[in-house]
Amino acid sequence: MGEKRDIKSYSLIELKEQMENMGEKAFRAKQIFQWLHKEKVERFEEMTNLSKSLRQKLNENYEIRTVKPVDILISKVDGTRKYLFEIQGGSIIESVLMKYHHGNSVCISTQSGCRMGCRFCASTLHGLEKNLTASELLSQIYVIEKNIGEKVSNVVLMGSGEPLDNFGNVVRFIRLISDENGANLSQRNITLSTCGIVPKIEELADMHFQITLAISLHASDDETRKSLMPIAYQYSIREVLDACRAYFSKTGRRITFEYSLVAGENDTVEEADRLAALIKDINCHVNLIPVNPIKERDYVQSGKKAVEQFKSRLEKNKLNVTIRREMGRDINGACGQLRNEAMKRRKEITDV
Ligand code: SAH
Repeated sequence: MGEKRDIKSYSLIELKEQMENMGEKAFRAKQIFQWLHKEKVERFEEMTNLSKSLRQKLNENYEIRTVKPVDILISKVDGTRKYLFEIQGGSIIESVLMKYHHGNSVCISTQSGCRMGCRFCASTLHGLEKNLTASELLSQIYVIEKNIGEKVSNVVLMGSGEPLDNFGNVVRFIRLISDENGANLSQRNITLSTCGIVPKIEELADMHFQITLAISLHASDDETRKSLMPIAYQYSIREVLDACRAYFSKTGRRITFEYSLVAGENDTVEEADRLAALIKDINCHVNLIPVNPIKERDYVQSGKKAVEQFKSRLEKNKLNVTIRREMGRDINGACGQLRNEAMKRRKEITDV
């Protein structure tokens, strides 16, 4: 018997085709799709408007893939929740729920691990383990919604992994989560953050999604960027910014630039001015992130004063700037750190 097919990753059109191939009526596909993406059921037995024989047939040929919570940390300060999930095959990933006045925002992982090698990032320390399937991307959101009994209104693809290095599954995810027959999340409430894989940004622009593109820039010159992010050896800042201009002209969506401030590396006012000169013709927003130190590297967070100065220099240049608010301070740990700790714990247990 072959492997069961991952039903939650299929589009409605694909499901219709498959139902017809199974000798079923096409409208069954819509019913199934709604059970999966609206009701978010995790077992075929719950699909009560399908005949028992169809449910059985589905059970034999398909699986409803999900993610299994293995730990949930809840912040006493602001209600932020960090979830550790186990995916099929045993890898661990993390997702974060942030509660804002305007709604619930979830930060999801797109890969277990990452192969981009950014020097300050904990997610990449052990390389890439696995690309997540569309169903595993969706399930992070669905399971969190179930856990809190509330809807998620914003999704950011900013957890572990490089979304454009898992392009096919991420595109599938965007289509599925925004499908009006399913979760029906507005694409405008989705942000995809990338280290800047230029050909993939161009490909994404051609899809004309209404999502926000966030670019991890972190430097105002190629040499500094190379010292922080290996991807800068492949694509220059100029090429990344040209891809951003193309993205804006094709989608009309304002670009977000992320800039993690590292003391003594990229946080001087000269660098702020140089950054402003580079991006001032782009319809954009700058998000400053005081770097979150990880114990495996000795990068130091820029001081409050340096951050404020950097911000006001950009503002003087008429740029729109925010400093990222630190959420869940008491359950902190930079992106990927929680997962690394869980992996270490596991290793210690199996080593005994
Ligand atoms: N791979 C994608 C998305 C994941 S990281 C990307 O590179 O954009 C999400 C954001 O957090 C990126 O801007 C990343 O550079 C930043 N980041 C990662 N580790 C960090 C740390 N320790 N401190 C501050 N920002 C960090």
